[in-house]
Amino acid sequence: MNLSLKSFLPPLDLGWNHVRAICAMPSCHNKLLMRAVPGARTGIHVGDAWYCSPDCFAMESRHTLAWLCTRTVVEMPRNPRLPLGLALLAKDTISEGQLRFAVAFSEHRGVNLETTLLEQGIVSEKQLAAARAAQWGCPVLGQEPAGQIVEADLPPTLLRACSAAPLHYSAKAKRLVLGFVHRVEHSLLQSVEQITGCRAEPCFITPSEFEEQMDRLSPVDGYAEIVDNDPGTVPQMARTLGRFAVEYSAREARFTRCKSWVWARISGKRGTVDAIFPLKAAAANAKREFSSAIPEVTEALG
Ligand SMILES: [Zn+2]
Repeated sequence: MNLSLKSFLPPLDLGWNHVRAICAMPSCHNKLLMRAVPGARTGIHVGDAWYCSPDCFAMESRHTLAWLCTRTVVEMPRNPRLPLGLALLAKDTISEGQLRFAVAFSEHRGVNLETTLLEQGIVSEKQLAAARAAQWGCPVLGQEPAGQIVEADLPPTLLRACSAAPLHYSAKAKRLVLGFVHRVEHSLLQSVEQITGCRAEPCFITPSEFEEQMDRLSPVDGYAEIVDNDPGTVPQMARTLGRFAVEYSAREARFTRCKSWVWARISGKRGTVDAIFPLKAAAANAKREFSSAIPEVTEALG
């Protein structure tokens, strides 16, 4: 018999990775092992960080919020490859004579070319959408309108602000097709990818198709968008998120910025909420209030 002491000991798998959860909030008092049950770790994940409670999450989210609010976004001006008039000419939608007339007429009236082309009946909405697609090098929605309800966990406020409607959305396949009316809004594409993890592909639709599609947009079960038009200071915004974290039994949070909005998503056992904070109001407060409240953020902001 060759029995070593080891044979009598229980296997040494204590689920250490699950147990050794340390809250990422530096002044958190919960420095001890949080939960001894593997896999049952609660708390809130934000990227690689983990917070033991909604309080710690809210406290630390002030840094992220302050950064998002005050950061100056230098967006590379992404303009279409081709001017609209040339795109229409290239597609033989209009003649050179029509284009010359429309350009002169637009200048005379001080309106843009598209308005003239549509109002004078020179092009249809559909032809204009096709020309824009050619300009941006993306597809245009086919002859058949999508016609189906699209269930999506996307904030309608941001979609409307960018004149973009979801045409197809598969959370499982991580694929989203967004139909734009005026231009491809890269800020929306990027923020949607950051928040949902879905690859967002642009195409072009007409203004009528946009309205029809927005009517067909339906929130997925358990999803809500909450627009806070009076977000207050950064600490107040953080407290708002803390309340949502409690309300939704948060497990995960993600942050991004889309054009002039801060977009925070909190998902948990009781669903998903997208908190939308308008940036103008928030930034003014953030610069004024927050710089004096938390020195290290002021330093980070330069
Ligand atoms: Zn904590």
